[in-house]
Amino acid sequence: MDCIFCKIIEGSIPSAKVFENDRIVAFRDIQPAAPVHILIIPKKHIPTMNDVTAEDDALMAELFAAARQIARELGIAESGYRLINNVNADGGQVVYHLHIHLLGGAKLHGLNG
Ligand code: 5GP
Ligand code: ZN
Repeated sequence: MDCIFCKIIEGSIPSAKVFENDRIVAFRDIQPAAPVHILIIPKKHIPTMNDVTAEDDALMAELFAAARQIARELGIAESGYRLINNVNADGGQVVYHLHIHLLGGAKLHGLNG
């Protein structure tokens, strides 16, 4: 499959991982938009949020649990952070493997901030 994040999951493309279990991996974004910029992804190839089904409910909950844990571990839980999921063209999605951006480590601007 020609998916860059599937290649990161299988290890054929290197990444700076900060979290991994049987269902999820999280790694540093190659072009960070903030001092902390982590991508949290399911190992299951789901192209976009539009492709998530009720079958993925537990997996989605686990992605958010991983985000909370990583924010704590990286020391930004209390100072604050932002979780973003871009969907399709107008959302600015570039990689079509579902991912949550975890951004923090500085005061973020835009989107009401
Ligand atoms: P999107 O715009 O699809 O929500 O975000 C895709 C993100 O993936 C971008 O922030 C981009 O910098 C990141 N990215 C793209 N290719 C790679 C890669 O090979 N390695 C890592 N670590 N991040 C990547
Ligand atoms: Zn994929």
